[in-house]
Amino acid sequence: MSKKVMVLTGGSRGIGAATAQLAAVQGYAVCLSYASQAAKADEVVAAIRNSGGEAIAVQADVSREADVLRLFETADREFGTLTALVNNAGILEHHMRVEQMDVGRLERVLATNVIGSFLCAREAVRRMSTSHGGIGGAIVNVSSMAARLGSPNEYVDYAASKGAIDSMTIGLAKEVAAEGIRVNAVRPGVIYTEIHASGGEPGRVDRIKDSVPMRRGGDALEVAHAIMWLVSEQSSYTTGGFIDVSGGR
Ligand code: NAP
Repeated sequence: MSKKVMVLTGGSRGIGAATAQLAAVQGYAVCLSYASQAAKADEVVAAIRNSGGEAIAVQADVSREADVLRLFETADREFGTLTALVNNAGILEHHMRVEQMDVGRLERVLATNVIGSFLCAREAVRRMSTSHGGIGGAIVNVSSMAARLGSPNEYVDYAASKGAIDSMTIGLAKEVAAEGIRVNAVRPGVIYTEIHASGGEPGRVDRIKDSVPMRRGGDALEVAHAIMWLVSEQSSYTTGGFIDVSGGR
């Protein structure tokens, strides 16, 4: 039996780091990418290896096609046949209204969150589709409840990028369903990670947690478990599906 191989984007911190560690425990060799925080990525790799798992970290900006190609080629070379992609890398910028957003911000958010996810999905399909000689596999996109809620006065651009990810999940799932590839998404709610500091409010989860029906923020590992269920054979008849990991929000 060939080994289970995962490419996971944005594995140096937060939800990606938790998912990388859970995937390794479940027997995946994990090729994780990061944008700039090499030391954090190395810590995740070291933790996995110290527990007997397999992992490597690759600096690769998902919005750059050459970086994405290098990321997947590294996974091919180091681990062999790809069986899973987790499109987790994502960014948001400071809270502001739409009328204040400049084109640079819009390009950055859409390039990372949308184009990056498309480029990685493309490379995964080229490797996993039975119509390209592959053995099938699973793609999990990390969307957001923002896609449903719209994030007014904070980051409508980010919410819209996640709406695009939801549409991509539905369309790509249908496109490759007969080729052995399942495509699903998780929609996290408010999760304790550093992404909220990027929005200018590190304490955002605690500010809004009382408006969550479960009255608390989520932990990255709670999202990782949903991602890994969608990657696993336990969800073998699920494609084009969504799991909201949001405490009922
Ligand atoms: P985070 O703690 O800010 O971590 C972001 C990760 O993405 C880091 O590993 C970062 O690498 C990487 N990254 C950023 N830009 C990248 C790029 N251009 N190319 C490659 N990697 C890049 O974020 P998080 O909260 O764990 O979020 C993970 C995913 O969950 C995102 O898609 C986010 O939109 C989604 N999400 C999060 C929440 C939440 O409340 N936390 C809610 C809904 C959805 P470096 O470490 O090198 O910067």
